[in-house]
Parts: sequence; structure tokens; C-alpha cells
Amino acid sequence: MNAGEIGALQEIIDRSRRIVFFGGAGVSTASGIPDFRSADGLFAEETDGLSPEMILSRSFFYLQPERFFAYYRKHLLYPEAKPNAAHRKLYELERADRLRGIVTQNVDGLHKAAGNIRVYELHGNVHENHCMDCNAAYPMETVLNAEGIPRCRDCGGVIKPDVTLYGEPLEKYVCIGAIREITNADTLIIAGTSLAVEPAASFISHFRGKHLVILNRDPLTAEEQAELVIHGDVAEIMDRITVR
Ligand SMILES: [Zn+2]
Repeated sequence: MNAGEIGALQEIIDRSRRIVFFGGAGVSTASGIPDFRSADGLFAEETDGLSPEMILSRSFFYLQPERFFAYYRKHLLYPEAKPNAAHRKLYELERADRLRGIVTQNVDGLHKAAGNIRVYELHGNVHENHCMDCNAAYPMETVLNAEGIPRCRDCGGVIKPDVTLYGEPLEKYVCIGAIREITNADTLIIAGTSLAVEPAASFISHFRGKHLVILNRDPLTAEEQAELVIHGDVAEIMDRITVR
């Protein structure tokens, strides 16, 4: 990240009226939330060599719910996490009527916590949980503080997080909304995601606007499509933008 790159991003933002921000794990690392996928090798022993994708799958949830929840509590729930500079700047951009929407792969709910209204959470949100039998709603704390499998206090049913597990389809209305925003955007900022995980790549193919920007810590393969690429921490980059 250098001053010239920040200047170029500032200029694009100043000229845009319908920005869509498409974000992944790298948007939340400055809030202390690591990418659970990067935990792969690190926790191999604890998980008998099972990958995060296997544990956080629909079939594992039904077959071994106790192990699912142990892993889920440890690697997906961060009750102390607060919105960082990237979340705050996006809230300012929405208030200034420049940002049309945020499409996120993150389940931490930090964009909504920062105050943004038009947030499309492709993989759900850990703060929303429901009893599988009577549909009663529960906050994250109920899942976090339960011993073993969290149970409904009314009917004893299993409480399932509203998080899309591997092997489950994405919520249709969220996808439709996200694709509509991307299709109508004049600028698309892709941040903190490898673009390797579907549906990211197919969502981005709907973009018809002028400015495609990539903000990411590491280089990506799809970079040649972008007008501007900045390597660095997403929160640090966004922090240097002025909303006017
Ligand atoms: Zn219930």
C-alpha cells in the first residue's frame, strides 16, 4: 500500500455513486477474527485430521453435533469482536449515499453491528440461531454458553445457528439481493477474499460497472481484471479513505 494507490482509490470512491463492497475473511482480521480456513493445518491434531470444511458441514452437524458445536464455539464465535476501521468507513459511505450495499462471506455480523442496513450475509450470521423444532430465536450467547449441544428452553429441540454449512444451499433471497446490487453497481470493491471460494467468483461475474477494485493482503490470480489492486490490510487501507 502506498500514497499513490490510496489516492487512486479515493478518486474512484469520489466519482462513484453506487459502490458495492464484496468482502471476505480479510475484512475482519483487524477485529481479531482469524480466517477459520487458515486454521486447517494448525488444528489438525485436535480434529483428527478433519478439515474445517468437513466439520462445518451439514452431514457432520447431524452425525456428530457435539463435536460440531465444540469446534464451532472455538473457531467461529468471537463475542469480544468489535467493528474495525473498514466496517466504520463502510457505514460512513452508506450514510453518505455512496455505498449501495455490502455482500459478505463473513458470519460475524460486524457490518450490521457497525450500523449498515443493506448487508447481504451470504453465509448467515452467528448472532441468529433458531430451535430446529419450534423455531424459537436465540442469541449467540445461548450457543456460546451451552455445554455440549445447545437446547431450546421451551421444547428441548436442538438450537441451530443460522449459518450456511458446507453442503447447504445459500438463502435464495440473499443471493438475489446481492446479485441485483452487484449488477447495478458503478464500482465493485472486492476485499479480503481469495475469490477461490464459490459463490464469490460467479457473483462477481454479474458486475457491469466501471471500476473494479481489489484490496487484499496477498496477490490473487484474478487481479488482471481489476482497474486498481492494493495489497495490504483491508482495515488499514479503508481507514485512509475520506468520505465526502
Ligand atoms: Zn424449541
